[in-house]
Amino acid sequence: MNRAYISIGSNQGNRREQMERAIAFLMVLGGVIVKRSDYFETKAWGKEDQPDFLNMCLELTTIKSAHELLKVIQDIESQLDRQRTQKWGQRTVDLDILFFNDAIINDDHLTVPHPYIPQRKFVLVPLAQVAADVVHPVLHKTVQQLLDSCPDDLEVVKVG
Ligand code: ATP
Ligand code: CA
Ligand code: CA
Repeated sequence: MNRAYISIGSNQGNRREQMERAIAFLMVLGGVIVKRSDYFETKAWGKEDQPDFLNMCLELTTIKSAHELLKVIQDIESQLDRQRTQKWGQRTVDLDILFFNDAIINDDHLTVPHPYIPQRKFVLVPLAQVAADVVHPVLHKTVQQLLDSCPDDLEVVKVG
């Protein structure tokens, strides 16, 4: 059985409803959700002239391979009308694979661990709720250590 950590974000339309639909799809198509974080709201990172994001993370056990899981999350994004226009532009839903076991993958389709984990508080804050002690297989630091040394100054606010 494989263990994956996935981040989900949305900043277009009914954010929470779309994220809940994405989670429901993941339970059908992806595997078993073992843990889920709270929802957090953050101003857009990287490309700032767009609505605020809602973000969360979850832990999934799955029999799928990393590339099969990538296909699943891309199918879910399509189902939820994700349009790709601008890089880091607004989106109905975005699912990223953060970690997949201890795998280190760098090919044309997939980079695991996800390359921006250490720079993004909107990923690290929810991820720390479900994976504080998980060790980054490249950086050899725990998620909590990465969060403690993260230079990102965008506020990440827990929403009820
Ligand atoms: P970022 O990756 O910086 O968060 P993004 O999520 O906006 O940006 P997308 O447009 O959603 O980027 O994805 C672009 C491509 O990234 C996808 O087509 C996918 O093949 C690739 N990709 C590489 N590594 C991953 C990963 N770990 N999780 C999800 N997609 C990945
Ligand atoms: Ca992303
Ligand atoms: Ca993505």
